[in-house]
Amino acid sequence: MRETLIRGAAVVVTMDGTRREIAGGDVLIREGAIAAVGQGLSSSGEVVEARGCVVTPGLINTHHHLYQTLTRAVPGGQDALLFGWLKTLYPIWAKMGPEEIRVSAQIGLAELALTGCTLSSDHLYMYPNGARLEDTIDAARLVGLRLHATRGAMSIGESAGGLPPDSLVEREGDILDDCIRVIDAFHDPRPGAMIRVGVAPCSPFSVSRELMRDAALLARDKGVMLHTHLAENDEDIAYSLAQFGCRPGQYAEDLGWTGDDVWHAHCVKLDGSEIDLFARTRTGVAHCPCSNCRLGSGIAPVRTMRDAGVKVALGVDGSASNDAGSLIAEARMAMLLQRVQNGADAMSAREMLEIATLGGAAVLGRPDLGSLEPGKRADLAIWDVSGLEAAGAWDPVAALLLSGPPKVKHLFVEGRPVVRDGQIVTFDLPRAIEVQNRLARRLAG
Ligand SMILES: [Zn+2]
Repeated sequence: MRETLIRGAAVVVTMDGTRREIAGGDVLIREGAIAAVGQGLSSSGEVVEARGCVVTPGLINTHHHLYQTLTRAVPGGQDALLFGWLKTLYPIWAKMGPEEIRVSAQIGLAELALTGCTLSSDHLYMYPNGARLEDTIDAARLVGLRLHATRGAMSIGESAGGLPPDSLVEREGDILDDCIRVIDAFHDPRPGAMIRVGVAPCSPFSVSRELMRDAALLARDKGVMLHTHLAENDEDIAYSLAQFGCRPGQYAEDLGWTGDDVWHAHCVKLDGSEIDLFARTRTGVAHCPCSNCRLGSGIAPVRTMRDAGVKVALGVDGSASNDAGSLIAEARMAMLLQRVQNGADAMSAREMLEIATLGGAAVLGRPDLGSLEPGKRADLAIWDVSGLEAAGAWDPVAALLLSGPPKVKHLFVEGRPVVRDGQIVTFDLPRAIEVQNRLARRLAG
């Protein structure tokens, strides 16, 4: 029997129904699941000493474009708004192929793992030069993180009035066929799944109304989730009003893009009636504060959405608009921005940790994840608060967001170690970094 005991943590943050925090706590993992949480537990299996550490559920990332780790800090995109930023980057992305997609995903997933993330979704919406969704899935299997890979798409190129170059768009029939192919090949609906697949046209400004509608029908037929970008900034709202004659929330609702099986990235510009719509329909939101800052999009109304009952989770967004991919840093930024918008008592560190864990599990439809309770899958992050960043901290749980550390000591996914003593143990990360830098130089020409 595969068993690991995490023993003697300074605090175990369970995120259970009563949000119990256990001082001097232990977590017993058996066959990939949490077997027990408490004090004084014992095991004949492996023991991991957690003295001086805070143990939390693994953080959950609900929006990313992993391939973008290859285009961090691109000069022409550093200071542009969303649409101008996209137009700078599209031609570079068009030069990528399977190797770029696979290696960049390894890098992005490793960065997430080291910053506390155990489950990431990914939104891959272009397939240049033979790239396929499984290039990303292969990377997740290598790194050992759970992945909700979404089959994105763009179908309206420049010549048809869209934003992307024609070379990056696909025919809508081909898109739907490939969605079916990857769902049938890779989607695992069972509790404990390591890989799930979703359907994710890139945005209302890069696919047709028909594809949005057909994607929703297909996803429901297959029992998979739907994801896209929505209401990201003022340009986005203006485009919706001009092209569709309605706001993004209305557009989403008309085409079947609301419900418990849908989550939208950003939602910076949702108005009151759209927030009500999302709450009523149990539609989820992936909040990506660093990207929203980086592109000057604004501050999403997270406090208002939470108070209205909207499911909110965190996303680092792609590394071309962050340009980091640290989930714990994203949580800190999210907490700080809600205070900028609403005052110092608007968002506590603990509420933000809840959004980063339980919030992510709710948005991605994973009741088997998000908390440390018997029966849940064993995804957990172990943070050493005995070092420099948290030195002098009075409250080690709040310190995770208020002061640090910025990286985990250990990380377990499905009870298996992905990070030990601050190092990725599942694959050769230094080698991947070398390859990544070589690929980036090649893209830069
Ligand atoms: Zn995005």
